[in-house]
Amino acid sequence: MRIQSATEPGTPGLPNEDHAAAATPASGEGGALVLLDGVTAPPEPVGCRHSVAWFSARLGGALLELLVSRPEMTPASCLAEAVGRTADAHRDTCDLSHQRTPQATVVCARWGAETVEYLVLSDSVLLVEGRDGAVHPVLDTRLDDLRPAARRLPREERAAFVESRRNTPGGFFTAAADPAVAALAVAGTRPRSEVRSLVALSDGLGRWVDTFGFGGWPDLFALLIADGPQAAIDEVRAAEAADPEGAKHPRGKTHDDASVVLAEL
Ligand SMILES: [Zn+2]
Repeated sequence: MRIQSATEPGTPGLPNEDHAAAATPASGEGGALVLLDGVTAPPEPVGCRHSVAWFSARLGGALLELLVSRPEMTPASCLAEAVGRTADAHRDTCDLSHQRTPQATVVCARWGAETVEYLVLSDSVLLVEGRDGAVHPVLDTRLDDLRPAARRLPREERAAFVESRRNTPGGFFTAAADPAVAALAVAGTRPRSEVRSLVALSDGLGRWVDTFGFGGWPDLFALLIADGPQAAIDEVRAAEAADPEGAKHPRGKTHDDASVVLAEL
């Protein structure tokens, strides 16, 4: 088994709101990975005295611990428990009812002797490489699915339209303070014997595919295997630097936190 990871803040010196981690328990041949992308809430989370980075680290740490220590719990149950724990850590000091309370996208996976279990919530991505070398993206497309309707609106109304669908039935979902969201994640299970590798990545690196169009998910996977996680992030940073205003490749932020965890089982 080989696990590689890289993470880089969008802007040097500013907090990295992604959280990427993996664990290989001493017992057995299993392991787990988590990747969260904290949702930037300008200028800061509403009703909360904590930072987005605090939230991502707290939720990601709890989730990874549960995945490896509680094999009888599904990843969705682990996420629900981790969301609850994280909410408990600040519900006495903060108002967690606001739509912009700290929140994050979530990808996690756990592998054991028999199965690989995984979960994706919002726009971070999981790539699953099969024994045959085929690479399958696991995507939660609910945020992207809103974009055609948004594009039919006047430009100045689009962001507010998408925002109004956050953690709302018929909209898109992130892990915030409500454990019930875990049941809405895209989840699956595969036989361990059919999975060769797993990659989790945040949308800051997903730009390699869906903003800069260097290739498809299998091409990004091949780059990660061949040259390593940092090389892929470096390619995105170079493309961003070449188009700083987003004239050729429109995007919300010039740079974004970019993270990846690659586990070759
Ligand atoms: Zn708080």
